[in-house]
Amino acid sequence: FYKMADEVFKAQQATPSDDTIFSKILRKEIPCKFIYEDEQCVAFHDVNPQAPIHFLVIPRKPIRMLSEVDETDKLIKNWCNLVLNCKLPSFQLLGHLMLVANIVAKDLRLEKGYRLVVNNGVHGAQSVYHLHIHILGGRQMNWPPG
Ligand code: 5GP
Repeated sequence: FYKMADEVFKAQQATPSDDTIFSKILRKEIPCKFIYEDEQCVAFHDVNPQAPIHFLVIPRKPIRMLSEVDETDKLIKNWCNLVLNCKLPSFQLLGHLMLVANIVAKDLRLEKGYRLVVNNGVHGAQSVYHLHIHILGGRQMNWPPG
């Protein structure tokens, strides 16, 4: 219960910003072992796991949150093409992230199933404003989530 309340509290305090802990991980300023990486995204274990297996898949492109993705890609498109090898528009990247979640889940032998979660904004209890998919597995999940 306390862990949960902590997470929600942290999420409510978080403000959208362009430089997050995940950008630092991507720039290798914070050590983090990637369990998968390609040109578009990386995956790593969550530092505070909520299940026997809990990893995150994040795009290299600094998309702040799911609700900011649409077909236009607005501001980040231009510099992203310069700085990163972003071949995919953000909305196509979303599909890629899900496929990677599935690939890594298979590698980690989650054949009995797993759950994908995307926390979006305050009510979604998002604490890090760099888009990420949570993949949780290795135990029976409950429904509804809290
Ligand atoms: P959110 O609440 O924004 O959906 O999830 C952010 C997740 O990132 C949390 O589950 C949190 O434990 C995880 N996290 C935060 N900082 C780090 C870190 O420095 N390294 C790793 N591996 N995970 C982190």
